[in-house]
Amino acid sequence: MTQTVSPTRASRATTLDVELKQVSKVFEGETAVDRVDLQIQQGEFFSILGPSGCGKTTTLRLVAGFEQPTTGQVLIQGRDVGFMPAYRRSVNTVFQSYALFSHLSVWDNIAFGLRIKGLPRAQTQERVNDALKLVKMESFAHRRPAQLSGGQKQRVALARALVNRPAVMLLDEPLGALDLKLRKQMQVELSNLHQQLGITFIMVTHDQEEALSLSDRIAVMQDGRIEQVGSPSDIYEYPRTPFVADFIGDTNLLRGRVDYRDGSILRITTESGLTVLVKRGVEAEAAPLGDVVISVRPEKIHLSQTAPETSGNCYAGFVQHKMYLGTHVHCVVQLENGDCLTVFQSNRAEHQLEAETAVYVYWQPTDCLALAA
Ligand code: ATP
Repeated sequence: MTQTVSPTRASRATTLDVELKQVSKVFEGETAVDRVDLQIQQGEFFSILGPSGCGKTTTLRLVAGFEQPTTGQVLIQGRDVGFMPAYRRSVNTVFQSYALFSHLSVWDNIAFGLRIKGLPRAQTQERVNDALKLVKMESFAHRRPAQLSGGQKQRVALARALVNRPAVMLLDEPLGALDLKLRKQMQVELSNLHQQLGITFIMVTHDQEEALSLSDRIAVMQDGRIEQVGSPSDIYEYPRTPFVADFIGDTNLLRGRVDYRDGSILRITTESGLTVLVKRGVEAEAAPLGDVVISVRPEKIHLSQTAPETSGNCYAGFVQHKMYLGTHVHCVVQLENGDCLTVFQSNRAEHQLEAETAVYVYWQPTDCLALAA
């Protein structure tokens, strides 16, 4: 396929490919998408992540043209496409269910769209062969979908979308039907494909690890609204709301009130009576006052059987529960005030603590966040 090879991420021009302006979609009185603003750059791998029913698929379908917005504008490459039919948009969608024609061969499945468009035979042949090569399925061209594995079917579905040379690829839970190992393998292939083609990918997923590992940027949705848009590390390290902190990765959330502030240091008393110091980094000025939720990730918390020398946050407790998870051990530590904190320990001999062991949990003020409640 003679698609352009991706420029490096740094050298990509920052041209907007897809833009949503205050887009809402209401189904029978129920708001599925609520005043969403999004700006997606040309060549980005952008993911929409959120729990079931939050409006991810509807947002993607609005870009695809399978739904029309109730209010707001959808723009593709600067053009308002709100009422343009799906087949006229320069986007193609890959579905979790593959949506392949079972009575057609792999080759004919991929050629289908081009034949409908009336592309000359020689050109169709060249494009289909290029697409097959791109997804490494040349030797499967004559098989029927029923004779393929899940991963192979998904490759055909990708080729069928790519053969149209869309400006934007829309991926709706593309790897959702695959088992874990194959899913990981296909994630690498998807990422390679994106790099190779340099076109915009917009993917809907509820798998946070998939979104973190593949995306340039992620939008986290809840109840039809965008909670936060940012790079994977921004979203993980600097969640803006307790919902994002809790949804992306694991975290411990403690509700409290700021009772003292000195520059970037906040002293917070939790509802359960702990005193916790939180040091804000770059955005110290934006530190919330009043009611807050402290977020501390389980991997940022240390455990020690002896009192550690630390000026940070340190509390006594005991190991209430532990779960062996291969690469790490998941411990629940109950503090003296009754709070329970989840702590991840790496799987090393010195870290093996039995249940009921008395321990101290401690972490640095820079290793936790205070979020507006
Ligand atoms: P999931 O991860 O489960 O696929 P999602 O985040 O993709 O969920 P959507 O499919 O966008 O969520 O649905 C958002 C809301 O809109 C849900 O409450 C859903 O029931 C509703 N909805 C979606 N499509 C329709 C429709 N065609 N008619 C009525 N309600 C709809």
